[in-house]
Amino acid sequence: MEVVISKNGKSAGAHDKLMEKIVSLAKRRGFVFQSSEIYGGLNGCWDYGPLGVEMLNNLKLQWWKEMTYRNNVEGVDASILMHPKVWEASGHVENFTDPMVDCRQCKGRFRLDTLFDELSIKRKKEVLRSFDEAKYAGQLKDEVVLADFIHVSSDPANATSILNALTCPTCGNRSTFTEARRFNLMFKTFVGPVEDSSAVVFLRPETAQGIFVNFQNVQSSSRQKIPFGVAQIGKAFRNEINTKNFLFRTREFEQMEMQFFVKPGSDDQWFEYWRAERMNWFVRLGMKKEKLQWHRHEPEKLAHYAKDAYDIEYLFPFGWGEIEGIHNRTDYDLSRHEEFSSKGMRYFDEETKEKYTPYVIETSAGASRSFMAYLIDAYHEEEAPTAEGGVETRVVMKLHPALAPTKVAIFPLVNRDGMPELSKNIETDLRPSYRVFYDDSGAVGRRYRRQDEVGTPFCVTVDSQTLQDDTVTVRERDSMQQERVGVGGLKRYISDKLA
Ligand code: ATP
Repeated sequence: MEVVISKNGKSAGAHDKLMEKIVSLAKRRGFVFQSSEIYGGLNGCWDYGPLGVEMLNNLKLQWWKEMTYRNNVEGVDASILMHPKVWEASGHVENFTDPMVDCRQCKGRFRLDTLFDELSIKRKKEVLRSFDEAKYAGQLKDEVVLADFIHVSSDPANATSILNALTCPTCGNRSTFTEARRFNLMFKTFVGPVEDSSAVVFLRPETAQGIFVNFQNVQSSSRQKIPFGVAQIGKAFRNEINTKNFLFRTREFEQMEMQFFVKPGSDDQWFEYWRAERMNWFVRLGMKKEKLQWHRHEPEKLAHYAKDAYDIEYLFPFGWGEIEGIHNRTDYDLSRHEEFSSKGMRYFDEETKEKYTPYVIETSAGASRSFMAYLIDAYHEEEAPTAEGGVETRVVMKLHPALAPTKVAIFPLVNRDGMPELSKNIETDLRPSYRVFYDDSGAVGRRYRRQDEVGTPFCVTVDSQTLQDDTVTVRERDSMQQERVGVGGLKRYISDKLA
């Protein structure tokens, strides 16, 4: 299976090359593999290797601590399969669709809105002019509005006119698309042995609904008072029409979501609070500030349930892309579940004696997408001196230590004179506290490079001086500075640095 990392199948530019390097490093060093690779892979599905799963777990742990180690947020872990009525109540059965078209020539399948979105601005203008210049002339200035245009015009009559002007990005043929169809992104399966319509269930397309249906359970068992939140990390599944850009758009992925229940009227203030919290979290975990931006959803583009919505976007090599959404979902979800289940979802405020349906501020981040953003953000190539006095390119993953899959690498300079034994003792001492890696093969310079490439913050080398004064060399990844540290104080030294 080909890894599609280019937006439009055209020859790879510098940005695509960067993505290629990261995808290849991810595979070579055991961060991410194609799912079922020996059978040619399965589109939109990826496996995390030894270093990848460690880093992903670190990321999720950081999020979990950030969100639930507070006095007003509880955690849950709801099941992936839920009662089918959940998805009727949530609006997913009706609304969770993308406009899909097929190319009659090459049988390629595309999302109509992305097909249009990926055209150059000049081409977009041409296409729209051929369609209805008068109506859309005012919008031609703004690319964002243009991109939304087709989405909004789900009217088949409009779509057909536009389709006639579009060129297939795969085979290059013009006017060859089928009519746009609404394609529901939820994966369907059956519970029990009989595969009939009464047994249909869906793989959850978001984790949020597992929180809403448990609102009363969590509130009464934890005795939380409004305002309070419920957080969850878990897999979600979307049968995306086109998967692309590595982990960015996949069919199986993980989300880290929190729903914060508030009194109506205080929602705007909590919305701003959580926006600030969530942006700060990405920055504190090392993401470059200048590669992050807010994108506010325009009122006409808001989801059916939302009063206000902002995306946190990261500047990927292929452009800005959402990594987290912060939404004011109003009382939509709880009201709908009350309506569909006939179970009360309102909250009784003991102090004011009021009964109301809480509003919800949602923070919805992709664990897999954020993982990829962190990999990209950390990837650096720099000039570094070689032992022979030359210069070479050093690839270094400048991951925040909390995210780094391995915290410390331990090297005996040579495999004799008691150095391996001393190194093993250090390994035994550190291993219960940190994920450490023992490496005794090749020149030390090469061993450093191997660790730089996977973001290990510290390398500890046992050398001949260790035998005399019981000190080791600790080399820091980003600065490449080396320090001599006493073996007895090493654990403390590392824990202070990592803190
Ligand atoms: P997009 O517009 O990119 O499809 P979305 O607006 O549908 O995303 P949400 O429903 O708000 O996304 O989901 C919250 C988060 O889940 C996103 O910010 C993203 O990080 C992640 N996410 C959504 N869809 C996918 C996917 N197909 N693959 C990987 N991560 C995803």
